[in-house]
Amino acid sequence: MLRKPVARIDVDALKHNLTRVRQEAAGSKVLAVLKANAYGHGMLQVAEQLQQADAFGVARLDEALALRAGGIVKPIVLLEGFFDADELPQIVASNLQVVVHQQEQVDAIVAAELDAPIRIWLKMDTGMHRLGLPPEQYQAAWQALSQSPNALPGIRLMSHFACADDLQCPDTLEQMQRFAQWSHGLGGDISLANSAGLLGWPQSHGDWVRPGLMLYGVSPLLGKAGADHGLQPVMTLCSRVIAIRDVAAGETVGYGSAWQAQQSTRLAVVAIGYGDGYPRMVPNGTPVLLHGQRFPIVGRVSMDMLTIDIGQQAVKPGDEVVLWGQGLPVEEIAALVGTIPYELLCNITPRVDFVYQ
Ligand code: PLP
Repeated sequence: MLRKPVARIDVDALKHNLTRVRQEAAGSKVLAVLKANAYGHGMLQVAEQLQQADAFGVARLDEALALRAGGIVKPIVLLEGFFDADELPQIVASNLQVVVHQQEQVDAIVAAELDAPIRIWLKMDTGMHRLGLPPEQYQAAWQALSQSPNALPGIRLMSHFACADDLQCPDTLEQMQRFAQWSHGLGGDISLANSAGLLGWPQSHGDWVRPGLMLYGVSPLLGKAGADHGLQPVMTLCSRVIAIRDVAAGETVGYGSAWQAQQSTRLAVVAIGYGDGYPRMVPNGTPVLLHGQRFPIVGRVSMDMLTIDIGQQAVKPGDEVVLWGQGLPVEEIAALVGTIPYELLCNITPRVDFVYQ
C-alpha cells in the first residue's frame, strides 16, 4: 500500500464538467484552458480526456509544444502570445494560434516572412490592465493584421475580465461595454468569458468561452463551491496515516510547539506536507476527511507530514486521509489559508503520485 500522497484524478468528473460548460454556454465553442499543467491535474492526460473541447489554451510556447509532442492535434492557443519574432516559425510549424496583445506583436507579425498564415486572437485591454491593446489602438491593429498575409482571415476578438468572480462588481459590465464600443464593426468571433464569466455573466458568452477552473470542478465565484454549479471535483488529494500517538493534556505538537492539547487525546500523523504542495499556512482546526468524518489539523504542517487530532476514533496506520476533493471542497481549504483554489491546485509538487481513474 502506498503511504505517500496521491492525487486521484476523476476523468468522468472532468468530462461531466465539460458537459456543464456546454449546458451553460450552449451556443459557444469551448477553449479549454490547460495552462500550468492543467491547473496541476496533468496537462497531457487532461487534454486526452477533453476530446469534446473545440480548442485548448496554454500560457506558453513550451506548454503547447509538449501537447503537440504528446500527440494532441486539436487547435492550441498561446494565451500569452509570443515574445520574439524568432518564435513565429515554430508557431507556424506546430500549427499554434496566438493571442496578440501588444503593438510589438502586431508589428512583428506584419514584418515576418512566414510559410503559412497564423490564426490570431486580438486582445483588447478593457480594464484588467495586464495584457491587451488599449481600446483606442484596437481598430488600427485589427486593420494592420487583416491586411497582412501572415494573419488568417477572421481574426478573433477577445478580452479578459478582472472581477467576474464578484457578481456585485460593476466592472464586468463596464468591460463588456468598452469591448462592444471599441470592437464595433469588426468582423470575427468574440471571446470574453473565463469560468466566472461563463457562470456568472451569461451575456458575456459570445462565440468562444474559455473555462479553466470550472473544468476542474471548482467554483470561480466568491462564496460558492463547485457543487453549487453542478460541478464535480476532479482532483482528490489524499495520503495515509503513518503513525498514531497519545498526548497528555498540556503537551505540545510539532515545530514551534504551536499547538497544545487541552486534554489527553490521540494524534494521527499523516504523510503529506508542504514538500508535497499542501499549504503550510493552514490554521489549526483546518479539516481533513478520515473514515468519511472531519478531523482537525493541529500543530504546524511540516515538509513531509502533518498531525490531526483523532480523539477516541479508532484509526490505524495505513488509513486514508483526504486533504481536499471529494467530500471536502478545495475552495474551503483555500479560504482558510487566505488564498484561491487555483494556487493550491497548481502547487502540488512532483513528489505526489497521480492516478487517473
Ligand atoms: N482566459 C485567459 C486569457 C486566462 O488567462 C485564463 C486564466 O487565467 C482563463 C481564460 C481561464 O480562467 P478561469 O480558470 O478563471 O476559468
